[in-house]
Amino acid sequence: MNIPFVNEPFTSFAVPANREAFENALRKVEAELGQEYSIIIGGQKITSARTLSSVNPAYKNQIVGKIYQADQELAEQAIQTAAETFHTWKHTDPNERARYLYKAAALMRRRKHEFSAWMVYEAGKTWPEADADTAEAIDFMEFYAREMQRLSEPQPLTRIAGEDNELSYIPLGVGVVIPPWNFPLAIMAGMTSAALVSGNTVVLKPASTTPVIAAKFMELLAEVGVPDGVVNYLPGPGSEVGDYLVDHALTRFISFTGSRDVGLRINERAARTAPGQKWIKRVIAEMGGKDSIVVDSDSDLELAAESITASAFGFSGQKCSACSRAIIHKDVYDEVLQKVIERTKQLSMGSPLEVGNQVGPVIDDKAYAKITEYIEIGKGEGRLVLGGSTGNEAGYFIEPTIIADVDPQGRISQEEIFGPVLAFIKAESFGDALDIANNTDYGLTGAVISRNREHLEQARREFFAGNLYFNRKCTGALVGTHPFGGFNMSGTDSKAGGRDYLLLFTQAKLVSEKY
Ligand code: NAP
Repeated sequence: MNIPFVNEPFTSFAVPANREAFENALRKVEAELGQEYSIIIGGQKITSARTLSSVNPAYKNQIVGKIYQADQELAEQAIQTAAETFHTWKHTDPNERARYLYKAAALMRRRKHEFSAWMVYEAGKTWPEADADTAEAIDFMEFYAREMQRLSEPQPLTRIAGEDNELSYIPLGVGVVIPPWNFPLAIMAGMTSAALVSGNTVVLKPASTTPVIAAKFMELLAEVGVPDGVVNYLPGPGSEVGDYLVDHALTRFISFTGSRDVGLRINERAARTAPGQKWIKRVIAEMGGKDSIVVDSDSDLELAAESITASAFGFSGQKCSACSRAIIHKDVYDEVLQKVIERTKQLSMGSPLEVGNQVGPVIDDKAYAKITEYIEIGKGEGRLVLGGSTGNEAGYFIEPTIIADVDPQGRISQEEIFGPVLAFIKAESFGDALDIANNTDYGLTGAVISRNREHLEQARREFFAGNLYFNRKCTGALVGTHPFGGFNMSGTDSKAGGRDYLLLFTQAKLVSEKY
């Protein structure tokens, strides 16, 4: 067994040497922008008739990379290759599989800033957000490697005389891994590592806005010697290859993180049995959120404002865990609103290439159009008290926006916007605040800021969220510390980064031998 798991520390950019190292990484990556990336099936690099340009959301004209796009024919080839490779990969020793991840984590740690720099360019992440994403990717690999080793140890069974009993966790088969763009390294690498370390083979369909980061991860897997065909890289439009992969008779499971609509579509399609299919497909679906921070009348209002501002506007609100609803007790409503406005005004918006900028762009034209439309809806549903405008047109910049006095049933209070738009809602009492917090279809994260022990205990029982935090922000879950996943329409509560996670990628086999 390896040394005990510890979370990867975040980089302090107050330290000049760290700033310099990050700047060097940005320069290195800049020199590599615009290259072509192939589809990879069975270790073979494959080109196709179509490429898609991945662009820097802060400078729409800057091409990060050109990615060959797969079609259904290549999707078929990828599934067949993964199915073929499964026959050998499933027999590899779990410790050997873990070692690939330990080495990949070690190499990623050595080139940490380089991976982060790719995210600054391709996802518009600020330095600290990119750094946290890379740290989480390292954590996932370190954690799941240990978890596989733990699961491969003799499992506790009731022992009876005259029999040898053994329970082992064996892999499932071919997994289709479909990650989102918002944690383009951490979630993508986490889902892929969990699948492969459990002994499955993978068809990885990266998000179309962040395929270069996924290609960099593929390079890392090749470098550490993960055998060809274990992870197959299949960039292509989800709308075109997604259904094909999900519907395929050889697909054993789908590990998806993304929007509710796509998640539900996958769940429905996976439930149908394709001709020749021998199993019930497993769906691990982590979906959207409409997350609230509740502020009690007796609470630290500075902490409340700090937690709300960080949770709402970190990465421009493009986190499933982001606070999009601040539900404030009427006695402190005006004061908290004012404090959040003041703090938000201090956030500087601009290119994430500059270390000082705290708010970067949103991911693409579709997100930009959707968010600006919601701001208009919000203006009709409440009082615009901050922001509301777009920024430098070189990129997809939208100001952190606060809309006050929103009705809990209003659209901006109910629908996931996935951008820097925060609704302020007034509650009559703490109980009323909890009712409002629970009034959406989602149940991902939430936070309560309170000094009242009784209220915290009440929230512990009644606030229906997969990840509930007290007296802190509702973003920033740590692997191993805050296993992550939500209730209701937020998904299957699969608890990524937790000790139950690999069970979703395995099946338990019991062998009993009578003497
Ligand atoms: P998305 O639009 O649902 O896309 C997610 C992935 O699904 C992408 O790779 C996409 O490919 C693919 N896809 C699209 N249509 C598909 C289809 N018919 N079949 C199979 N795959 C298909 O979500 P997103 O915009 O990338 O991510 C934002 C969403 O993810 C938000 O709702 C956020 O809350 C959620 N999220 C949840 C968690 C969590 O842990 N609960 C974490 C992060 C994000 P293309 O890119 O090619 O369309």
